[in-house]
Amino acid sequence: AAVQAASYLSGLNPEQRQAVEATDGPVLVLAGAGTGKTRVLTTRIAHLIATNRAYPSQILSVTFTNKAAREMKERVAHLVGGVAEGMPWLGTFHSISAKILRRHAELLDLRSDFTILDTDDQIRLMKQVIAAEGIDEKRWPGRMLAGFIDSWKNRGLAPKDVAPGEAAVFANGKGGKLYAAYQDRLKSLNAVDFGDLLLHCLTLFREHADVLATYHERFRYILVDEYQDTNTAQYLWLRLLAQGRRNIACVGDDDQSIYGWRGAEVDNILRFEHDFPGATVVRLERNYRSTGHILATASKLIAKNETRLGKTLRTEDEAGEKVTITGAWDSQEEARLITDEIEAMQSKGDNLSQIAVLVRISAQMRELEERFVQTGVPYRVIGGPRFYERAEIRDAMAYLRCVVSATDDLAFERIVNVPKRGLGDATIQILHNHARASQLSLLQSARAIVESDELKPKARTALRELVEAFGRWSGRAEHMPQGELAELVLEESGYTEMWQKDRSADAAGRLENLKELVRSLDEFPDLPAFLEHVSLVMDADNGDVTERVSIMTLHGAKGLEFDTVFLPGWEEGLFPNQRALDESGRAGLEEERRLAHVGLTRARKRLKLYFASNRRIHGLWQSNLPSRFIDELPEEHVEVVQAASNYSQGGYGASRFDRMESFGSSYNTPGWQRAQENKARGGGGQGFSESGSGFGGSNFGGARQRGPMLIEGELT
Ligand code: ATP
Ligand code: MG
Repeated sequence: AAVQAASYLSGLNPEQRQAVEATDGPVLVLAGAGTGKTRVLTTRIAHLIATNRAYPSQILSVTFTNKAAREMKERVAHLVGGVAEGMPWLGTFHSISAKILRRHAELLDLRSDFTILDTDDQIRLMKQVIAAEGIDEKRWPGRMLAGFIDSWKNRGLAPKDVAPGEAAVFANGKGGKLYAAYQDRLKSLNAVDFGDLLLHCLTLFREHADVLATYHERFRYILVDEYQDTNTAQYLWLRLLAQGRRNIACVGDDDQSIYGWRGAEVDNILRFEHDFPGATVVRLERNYRSTGHILATASKLIAKNETRLGKTLRTEDEAGEKVTITGAWDSQEEARLITDEIEAMQSKGDNLSQIAVLVRISAQMRELEERFVQTGVPYRVIGGPRFYERAEIRDAMAYLRCVVSATDDLAFERIVNVPKRGLGDATIQILHNHARASQLSLLQSARAIVESDELKPKARTALRELVEAFGRWSGRAEHMPQGELAELVLEESGYTEMWQKDRSADAAGRLENLKELVRSLDEFPDLPAFLEHVSLVMDADNGDVTERVSIMTLHGAKGLEFDTVFLPGWEEGLFPNQRALDESGRAGLEEERRLAHVGLTRARKRLKLYFASNRRIHGLWQSNLPSRFIDELPEEHVEVVQAASNYSQGGYGASRFDRMESFGSSYNTPGWQRAQENKARGGGGQGFSESGSGFGGSNFGGARQRGPMLIEGELT
């Protein structure tokens, strides 16, 4: 009998509806940003439940982040009422895997209360394993091994599966042995690391067909969001689970694949059609998120990529406002311009939680955060601590605090053995005892006892070196610029080196943050003034205000949407990021471009790009060219904004003329030249002009278009 269309289906377009109603068999939704892929998944869950195809507990639904899982639960609850509360199997690959493992821990020689190690624990253990093999940890650092082991785990490889040649890359052929030893050590500690969550599940499913069968029975339907970012282990995990009923629906967008550096394989999209023959493939082409200019800009940019499946996107929204590109003199001005805009929006009554600032690397956040704090713009950093709360920044600050004050015990304790210098718990205990008895601080006590025989020779030498170093640094503090001093301290203490040797994925980011810290120091008259400032910033309470601007990395913004999106730092070297280019060449560039595409497609109504002509990198001012991605944006959809009016308030003392000249030189990229020539030829006079109207400043085509607007993607 014809069933009355359920209310939750009514808002969908025909293709979305097809993807929801094709309940049985494999389904692949391949579609661009904002086309409603996530919405299809939530509606599909509602549909499965409402039509009694499955109980909530029989649906396995995988999201990329915990935040996405929470949002999905809310959306389902909204569609089908309270039913969604019982969705025990909606979560990330890791959280679901952990849950499965706890139920079958004994089959993997674990107890169900196993602990999940964090990165620090993981590294500590690696070091022990390396030392136990008699290998020099200085030459073959634990973090490097951790990097290898993670990548093997991402590929679903247990120690026995790693090809001998590949395992040999670490410690002259000992890599495989160390991996096995590390796994044994974990088991004896009743512990797993993050990668194990997936890997152990794979082992469980492969070696215990009866267990796998119970999950085939249980999971009637499987749904996967952000499918383009699954790595091999995750893919195998899904394939094993889906083999039973083959009711698996994956949604993804190859143009948003941004985790290649973590082992994600876009090829999984192609493998899907191969492994699940006869899959219903649905393409969604209407974008419901962004206005015309924004969508056209994003589509044009991604069309420059050669390796893509290709797709068409269109919107029926109005063209809306053009995408703006603003050049700033330097990164500080950039932060000020963004803050000014946000304040203007705030005073118009705009909702701050509909505003996001998305950065390429987390070191970009500091100047923004500082400006927000100064001007009282409420913000939150999503997916990570605020700048001064990061571990490496706290460590560096602890060193500086000890330089400034020999009585800062908290600071001293934090760094006394970071990097590891053989000053373990026993030594600290002796220091504490001495400090208590003599009413001295820890550092003062250290000074007092390095000559006594209370300490073992090795610890004594290490402690003496540290004490002497602090003496030296404090002496220098008087006459050395604090930025330089900080650099010296971080170098001589071995702290910088510790991260340089580190092979984990976030090490480079931490080094960037440290450089950013050093850089920022020279903005203050002296070190105490700086430390004072930071404690104020740290204390700055954003209060109970619920509406806040979000700051996050582009990677963390996947799947989210905001009315207004600010994208600072569109400069060569920063974005595309030089490291990605150096390490992965053309593929790296294309992944950077996809990341740019993710950023552009987060915006609903307003999209604002920035670049700064000057940014201090590694302590040196560098003149940066605008990102090549800016060149690649379609002229007719973007508007180049002149920041000169704001500039004069900045107090740089530079004349507007100087400023124009500097833009002139930094704009010397072929793309812009071409654009300028074209404009000149068109007689529009929007290029550089002597009247100082700025670069571009184009206003033509400003009339708002209404109605459908088709934006073709290029098929490759
Ligand atoms: P991304 O690739 O960025 O994750 P997506 O394809 O998952 O995007 P959604 O987040 O599901 O897209 O949807 C984008 C926006 O469009 C959401 O605000 C959603 O509610 C809205 N939307 C989706 N489909 C429809 C529809 N049929 N009618 C109205 N709005 C829709
Ligand atoms: Mg989505």
